[in-house]
Amino acid sequence: MSGNQADLGVLGMGTMGASLALNFADNGGFTVALGNRTTEKTYGVRDDNPELAERLVPTDSIEHFVSTLKSPRVVVLMVNAGKPVDDQMALVLPHLAPGDILIDAGNADFNDTVRREKAVKPTGVHFVGMGVSGGEVGARNGPSIMVGGDQAVWQRLKPLLEPIAAKFDGSPCVDWLGPDGAGHFVKTIHNGIEYADMQMIAEVYGILRDAVGLRPQEMADIFADWNTRDLQSYLIEISSLVLAERDPETGGALVDQIVDEAGQKGTGRWSVIEAQKLGVGATTLEAAVSARGISSRRAERAEAARIFGGVKTARAEFHADHEGLAELEAALVAAKIIAYAQGYATLTEASKEFGWNLPLGEIARIWRAGCIIRSRFLDDITRAYEAGDVVNLLLAPSFTSRIEGAQEALRRVVAKASLAGIPVPALSAALAYFDDYRRARGTTNLTQGQRDLFGAHTFHRLNREGTFHHKWPQA
Ligand code: NAP
Repeated sequence: MSGNQADLGVLGMGTMGASLALNFADNGGFTVALGNRTTEKTYGVRDDNPELAERLVPTDSIEHFVSTLKSPRVVVLMVNAGKPVDDQMALVLPHLAPGDILIDAGNADFNDTVRREKAVKPTGVHFVGMGVSGGEVGARNGPSIMVGGDQAVWQRLKPLLEPIAAKFDGSPCVDWLGPDGAGHFVKTIHNGIEYADMQMIAEVYGILRDAVGLRPQEMADIFADWNTRDLQSYLIEISSLVLAERDPETGGALVDQIVDEAGQKGTGRWSVIEAQKLGVGATTLEAAVSARGISSRRAERAEAARIFGGVKTARAEFHADHEGLAELEAALVAAKIIAYAQGYATLTEASKEFGWNLPLGEIARIWRAGCIIRSRFLDDITRAYEAGDVVNLLLAPSFTSRIEGAQEALRRVVAKASLAGIPVPALSAALAYFDDYRRARGTTNLTQGQRDLFGAHTFHRLNREGTFHHKWPQA
């Protein structure tokens, strides 16, 4: 191709970048320049997709990549978070001009996005932090896209992003959510909720496997059944698929051959760190991140199991009859509501803290298709925000009644699992948060007394306005 023909360029031909580039070419009808550190990959992406070859422009250097782009240029970076982003930005920025748009479409710590936007501003290039969810298949066919940055730049990006985004009821799951790091922040909390949701599903799987003794195919059928009601979601659906899959090597269930160590790339951890900084108790997200950490200490776990023993199946009062399964289903519904309430509380607080004015109902809408946490449940969140101000999802009338109906089941499941020694860290974190949240008279009056005694931190009184210090007896 002669120069200046590509509508945009994607830099980074890994799993996500290649898929996104093909999506731009296929569903968007755009001509896309392909760039990558390992430049051979750009030709591979074109050659593996002959039906789109006319609209794919492989390049073998940054200069070549930039020279193929129409001006003003749009460059979509899709590389691993952290240093790779800074390195690629340092390479491409000298070739861009004022008015060009540089998008970081990978996952990013939003603090990095804020820093990068500030650093790029003087060059006149517009920097956009953009979260993309949906994994490889979503990126290829229609992801959910969370855009941050300058709102005027969004108007220019809209015609490029709407055609490639997932559609829900015909409307694209992409929107501008707020300035600077807002898009990446929302993506981070999306991933935190995803961690919690996955962990809670895995905990119920643990109960069915270790306490009830079900086989993977039986559990696959249960999840498939749950996927027809309140829990309907992509994550429940794929849990059923994973449990049902056979291992070609052993002929048994593949899930039984997979090592129980979960990886993580940082977004879950960032979500918890940001929730902590904002003073929000995102305890189910924390439990999920910690559980992945513990999972990676496999040898230590084996030693601890040898010393302390494992699940006490004799004490496990779980059953796979109609009543027992309905209880587990209801417990999962209750815990899920609480996890989403925590994620949304973090978004609400961030919105105030950073002055973003995040469109919370709209966020649930653009998560409704394309992304990993897509579920029926998100409709209810959108409706709750449309109905008026929501202080916390647990207080929104539609959720209040649902949690009231399901909290007893969560309580029984957590209690029975605890007695049997079955770990349910996220489910129990959900229950503890709920009980703490709905207790009008808490116990931090004692904490405040202790703080005032050892550090003169003062306290407030119930019967009088003002700040008080007491001369406590010293130990
Ligand atoms: P990937 O398949 O591992 O690809 C990584 C890409 O980054 C490759 O193009 C690689 O180039 C490039 N890269 C790595 N280090 C580099 C460096 N130091 N300098 C320049 N380029 C470098 O990763 P991915 O799954 O596509 O993920 C890309 C981004 O999308 C990440 O931020 C990830 O968190 C995010 N994300 C991933 C998913 C998912 O499901 N995979 C979902 C949503 C978001 P080479 O080919 O030369 O190695």
